[in-house]
Amino acid sequence: MTRLTVIAGPTAVGKGTVVRYLLDKHPEILLSVSATTRQPRVGEIDGVHYYFVSNERFDQMIADNELLEYAVVHQTNRYGTPRKPVERALEAGQQMILEIDIQGAQQVKESMPDANLIFIAPPSLEELNKRLLGRGTESAEEIAIRLETAKVEMSSKSLFDHVVINDEVADCAQEVLDLMKT
Ligand code: 5GP
Repeated sequence: MTRLTVIAGPTAVGKGTVVRYLLDKHPEILLSVSATTRQPRVGEIDGVHYYFVSNERFDQMIADNELLEYAVVHQTNRYGTPRKPVERALEAGQQMILEIDIQGAQQVKESMPDANLIFIAPPSLEELNKRLLGRGTESAEEIAIRLETAKVEMSSKSLFDHVVINDEVADCAQEVLDLMKT
């Protein structure tokens, strides 16, 4: 059995970029495909980016214990990790990453204490602010709200096994990779 790797961190920290970089260099590592009730964005493919499901189907997955964890993210949609593919990967000795929100990461730790929880942190809150501004996709008001959320999210980092600072994507990905070997 391998150890499951769970990656989480505050909004806009760039964890998606780190995970994509890592998987590009290490195609043997599997990424769990989550189920979600949100609508697909342009270019997103069902079964590849997410399993896009109805609210009723999501309820059924919960009732049938098909989800390893699930949470409401950004107060709108539900997201959850299908349990079977995770169990199959670990039993086959394959490395698997979950890139999920902080609440979900904590649930995984409760049901799988052996999971390796890695928190991706920004170099500082000022830097996070800069990254949010740089994206240019949120209004000043939204940025202020997201920064407040990020501050709360930062306070959960002590619940994680490791904290990795995302200063340079390549360095951060390498650190995550090294931690996956522990
Ligand atoms: P997006 O809608 O932008 O694809 O994702 C929004 C957020 O949902 C991200 O922060 C991501 O980490 C989180 N997320 C994606 N899949 C899961 C999941 O299976 N479980 C939980 N708890 N969070 C998830």
